[in-house]
Amino acid sequence: MTATRRLFDENSHLFDFTAKILSVTPIDEDTLSVVLDATAFFPEGGGQAPDTGVLCGFSVSDVQEHDGVIYHTVKADASFPAAGCTVEGQLDREVRLRKMQNHSGEHIISGIVHRIYGYTNVGFHLGNGDVTLDFDGVLTREQLNEIEDEANRIVAASLPVKAYYPSPEVLATLAYRAKLELTENVRMVEIGQGEDMMDRCACCAPHVDNTGEIGLIKLLDFIHYKGGVRIHMLCGLDALEDYRQRYTDVALLAARLSVKQQDLVAGFDRLQAEIEAQKQIIFDLRQTLLSMTLASLPETDGSLCLFEETGDANAMRRLLNEAAPKCKLLCGVFHGDDQSGYRYFIGRGDPSIDLKQYAKDINAALNAKGGGSSEMLQGRAGTTKAQIQAFFDTFYI
Ligand SMILES: [Zn+2]
Repeated sequence: MTATRRLFDENSHLFDFTAKILSVTPIDEDTLSVVLDATAFFPEGGGQAPDTGVLCGFSVSDVQEHDGVIYHTVKADASFPAAGCTVEGQLDREVRLRKMQNHSGEHIISGIVHRIYGYTNVGFHLGNGDVTLDFDGVLTREQLNEIEDEANRIVAASLPVKAYYPSPEVLATLAYRAKLELTENVRMVEIGQGEDMMDRCACCAPHVDNTGEIGLIKLLDFIHYKGGVRIHMLCGLDALEDYRQRYTDVALLAARLSVKQQDLVAGFDRLQAEIEAQKQIIFDLRQTLLSMTLASLPETDGSLCLFEETGDANAMRRLLNEAAPKCKLLCGVFHGDDQSGYRYFIGRGDPSIDLKQYAKDINAALNAKGGGSSEMLQGRAGTTKAQIQAFFDTFYI
């Protein structure tokens, strides 16, 4: 099959087009694979998701290219026109515009990083509202801020963006960025011209006509990745949407903290300090309560069974260690409820008791999973509070 004419190469701002159907192949009962003589739908490639839109009113869910032929996956029924008919196609205009803003923005960033630091863009992903790029060298936040400033100066300068196929002779004379070693049919994308040439890169994707169309380039968070960095970025309408969401969140948090937006971090730090102080007060109160509980425990020749409210392991252990000497047999400390079970520590009042000997009986009586040493057992009991209490009341040696 002859290669599909790539209308997006000729005019990246062509969103509506007409073309002749060359073939229609059913994929399943409501999905067709459609080949046209020409298309404005950019297929998936080079890290960029395919364009979406409609063909003859039916939605295009995927676009792929094989050997120069572009295949449109169309959700359609039997009323879809046959080969030989002319159809109208419409791209999701704003989705495409956002992709071009992000992709051209990525070229600007990659060009600056290459020019200043000599790093290469080794990975690029452009989904919907999600852009990542990877460089083979480490950059700091300060450097990224400088790169971002320079990138937005290039946006503000409204430099022309040109895409073209140079002849092999011209290509041989050009310096450009490229993922692969290319020799023929190379599409070049240039940002700026003459003295203001900011970047030249081999790329098959549609781009803005002018850097001013990008609107804004924002580098978001970054991580160290495979010896370099992976940067999240957003441009244009995606960046605006992201800013709007963050502004809304900041405004909401500031209102909830009753501080001005510019004082949000200080307000949050104050709240956290208050929480820490409250935690200390609660800790001190718990210790007091624990001491009072221990002081009020009667001495017994039998066993002791205690239920601890907080489930804090340190508090449970302290209770066990200080309560055990007040009894002669077992001392158990439990935390939980009848629905989800009880976590427990079990010790002994008499140091001559080897708890390991009783572990099996205890596990059976409390429907428990657990184990431990001669001195202490721990685990989870799957029985009720009443049954636990009854076991300790009736335990004897
Ligand atoms: Zn590109």
